[in-house]
Amino acid sequence: MNDARIPADLPDHIQHYIDGAFVDSVDGDTFDVLDPVTNETYTTAAAGKKADIDLAVASARRAFVEGPWPRMLPRERARVLHRIADIVESRDARLAEMESYDSGLPITQALGQARRAAENFRFFADLIVAQADDTFKVPGRQINYVNRKPIGVAGLITPWNTPFMLESWKLGPALATGNTVVLKPAEFTPLSASLWAGIFEEAGLPKGVFNLVNGLGEDAGDALVKHPDVPLISFTGESSTGQVIFANAAPFLKGLSMELGGKSPAVVFADADLDEAVNATIFGVFSLNGERCTAGSRILVERTVYDEFVEKYAAQAKRVKVGSPHDPTTEVGALVHPEHYDKVMSYIEIGKTEGRLVAGGGRPEGFELGNYVAPTVFVDVPPEARIFQEEIFGPVVAITPFDSDEEALTLANDTKYGLAAYIWTNDLKRAHNFAGAVEAGMVWLNSNNVRDLRTPFGGVKASGLGHEGGYRSIDFYTDQQAVHITL
Ligand code: NAD
Repeated sequence: MNDARIPADLPDHIQHYIDGAFVDSVDGDTFDVLDPVTNETYTTAAAGKKADIDLAVASARRAFVEGPWPRMLPRERARVLHRIADIVESRDARLAEMESYDSGLPITQALGQARRAAENFRFFADLIVAQADDTFKVPGRQINYVNRKPIGVAGLITPWNTPFMLESWKLGPALATGNTVVLKPAEFTPLSASLWAGIFEEAGLPKGVFNLVNGLGEDAGDALVKHPDVPLISFTGESSTGQVIFANAAPFLKGLSMELGGKSPAVVFADADLDEAVNATIFGVFSLNGERCTAGSRILVERTVYDEFVEKYAAQAKRVKVGSPHDPTTEVGALVHPEHYDKVMSYIEIGKTEGRLVAGGGRPEGFELGNYVAPTVFVDVPPEARIFQEEIFGPVVAITPFDSDEEALTLANDTKYGLAAYIWTNDLKRAHNFAGAVEAGMVWLNSNNVRDLRTPFGGVKASGLGHEGGYRSIDFYTDQQAVHITL
C-alpha cells in the first residue's frame, strides 16, 4: 500500500453515525466500496436499512425535542458552524485527497470543492445571524410579525458527484436554522462523508443533531423518505429518483426540495469571443469529469462560425489531460464507478450512430484499467438524438448548429430538463432577451459556472422542484408562523 495515490489511514470499514456513536447496521450487512482507478474493493461500508434509519431518526428527533440545538441563539449556532468551516478549511488537502481517491475526481478540483464546503458553512452561519423577518403594522389596529421556527428532523439524500460539497450545501442551512438531520450519502462515495462526525464533534455540535446512515437508495434512502417523523426531505440526484421520492413522500405531505438532472445548453452566437467560448465550454463539460449537474453538455453554435468552432473545440478537447486523479496536472480523472462507466460508454456507442465523432470516443490510450473515458465530442447532432436529449453525466458533449436566434431558443428548450444555460454573445440585448426566454433555472452570460451563494440555485421542468441558495434555503428549512396582535 505504498502507492502515493492511496491516502494514508484509509478506514478498512465505514460505519453509520447515530446518536453520537459509530455503529454497524442492525443486521450486520455491508456493501463494497470501489477504487475507481482499479475497480477493486478498498473498503466496506455498513449497509443501512429501515431499522438503522429508525434509530437515526429517533436520535435526531430526541435532539430536536429535548436538546439545546433548536433553542440556541442564531449567534451561538453560527459560532459552531464557523468552527466547522475552520476545521474543513484546515483539512482541505486531506479532504481533497480522500474525495479524489474515492470518487476519481482530479485532485485539484477536489481541493476546490473542499473549500466550497467550508464556505457553505460560513455563508449560512452569517446568514442566520443577519436573518430579518417581516413585521407589519396596521396603524392603531394591529401588529403582525413572523415567527420563524426550525421544522424538525431533516432527511438529506445526496449524490456521488462532489459528495462532500453537496452534503455541506444541505447540512449548512439545515443545521444553521436549528433542525437536526439524518444524512444518507451516496453509496458509490461514502468515504468523505465519514469525516463529518469527527468534524462536528470537534466543533461542538451537540450529540444527536447529526446522524448518518450509509446504504443503498432503495433501502436506507427509501426508509428515510417514508419515515413519518421526517417532515422534510432535501434530495439531490437523478430526475427519475426524484419522481420516486416525490411519490413516496406524497402520503406524508412532506416538504421537498429537489435538485435533479440536467442537459444544459451552451449557446454560442457568431458575435461571441470564440476563443473564450471554446475555453469556457470545454471547462463546462469536461471539468469534474463531466459529472456535473450544470454541465453544458449540449453546445449550440451559430452556423456562420460552426466549422471554425468545431475545429478549435475538437483540437482543444484532444489536449484535455486525462490522468490519475491524484496527479495535480490531471484535468479528467476516472469516472466514479464501473456501473456509471458502462452507462457513459453505452452513450458513446449510441452517439456514434447519431452524430459525427471528432474527438475521443472510448477509453483513452494507455489506460487499461479503471473508469477512464477520453473527452468525447460529437458534432452535427440532431435534436432528436438520445445524446442530445438524455443526461450522460460524463465527459461527452453534443454540438449542433443553428441559423437564427429563434432556432437557437427552440433547440435550447427542446429537452425535458431546465437546470442551467450558458450564452455567449456580445449583443447585450440579445443576451438578456435570450436569458429571459430560455427554460433554465440558472443562466450564465459570457461566463463560466461561477456561484454566488445568495442567488437561487435550482432547476425548472425535470431539473428540480424549489430553489435553494441564500434565504431560499432558510425558507425551506423553517416554518414561518404568522403572529397577529390586535391593538
Ligand atoms: P441518484 O438519483 O441515483 O442517487 C442520489 C441519491 O439518492 C443517492 O444517495 C441514492 O442512494 C439515493 N436514492 C436512490 N434511490 C432512492 C430511493 N428510491 N429513495 C430514496 N433515495 C434514493 O443520483 P446519482 O447518480 O447519485 O447522482 C447523479 C445525478 O444527480 C445526476 O442526474 C445529476 O444531474 C444530479 N445532480 C443534480 C444536482 C443539482 O443541484 N441539480 C447536483 C448534483 C447532481
